[in-house]
Amino acid sequence: MNYKEIIEEVYQKIKSGDNKGKLATYIPELAKVNPNTFAVHLTTIDKQEYGIGEYEHKFSIQSIAKVLSLSLAFKIIGEKLWERLGVEPSGSSFDSLAVLELNNGIPRNPLVNAGAMVICDVLITHLTNPKEEFLEFIRDISGIHDLNYSAVIANSEKSAGYRNIALCNFIKSYGNILNSPEEVLDFYFSICSLEMSCRELSKTFLYLANDDFRTASNKKVLTMSQAKRINAIMQTCGFYNESGEFAFKVGLPGKSGVGGGIMAVHPNNYCIAVWSPKLNEKGNSYRGMKFLELFTTKTESSIF
Ligand code: GLU
Repeated sequence: MNYKEIIEEVYQKIKSGDNKGKLATYIPELAKVNPNTFAVHLTTIDKQEYGIGEYEHKFSIQSIAKVLSLSLAFKIIGEKLWERLGVEPSGSSFDSLAVLELNNGIPRNPLVNAGAMVICDVLITHLTNPKEEFLEFIRDISGIHDLNYSAVIANSEKSAGYRNIALCNFIKSYGNILNSPEEVLDFYFSICSLEMSCRELSKTFLYLANDDFRTASNKKVLTMSQAKRINAIMQTCGFYNESGEFAFKVGLPGKSGVGGGIMAVHPNNYCIAVWSPKLNEKGNSYRGMKFLELFTTKTESSIF
């Protein structure tokens, strides 16, 4: 498969089209990003890679990081995790309080904000220095030693994070947050502030595409069964209220973030990352969605 040629062709086509949508201004720092950046990077499981646009430029990966924190919590406590979280699409906004009330404080899935907060709570309970140990975990997976949080973005989100603060306290009222909401929120905002480039993303998430994946220190990240479950959750819940549409048009498990990034995996084949900051009405990257739809069509690589 000539990925280089197809990526180049699809990239030029999408770039020459419109760039609709809006930046995620509810996090003040994200409103400062250049709305015209557009980057793509693909890494295959046999380590061939190809990128175009600003693929080395780090950006705020936001909710894409929820897949990493979920992976670490799942690795630590295994199936017991599902006593505190569901695995169903939420069918409503990613920061909905109403859905949480209907489900008595059990988040619908680990990729909505409430679910990611419960995951943070699990990690705080099981790790001595959660922020440092989480960084070590993702640095080992990716082999990239300078991966880091952005204090500027975390503080920016915290300064206007009324809804997330409400959500965390609301879950606590149901007894499904065991640590202090302040500590959970601080960790949650840090995780969301992680900065990575498309190149770093497509290399890092290979662990969900490749059954034989080993970290920099030669460890396996997840069992095959655990990786399968995370891919299933990404497929059904990874794109807010557009997850069905993403399965329909793109056909890959993946996760988007309000920074305009999208990461998607083709099991046993490749991982691809796209970044274009303007978001469509559902909160997913406008150009990212369009790029991936055309890319999987041309490469005939929808998993369905
Ligand atoms: N930090 C963002 C929030 O909690 C993440 C949202 C996202 O990327 O989906 O609102």
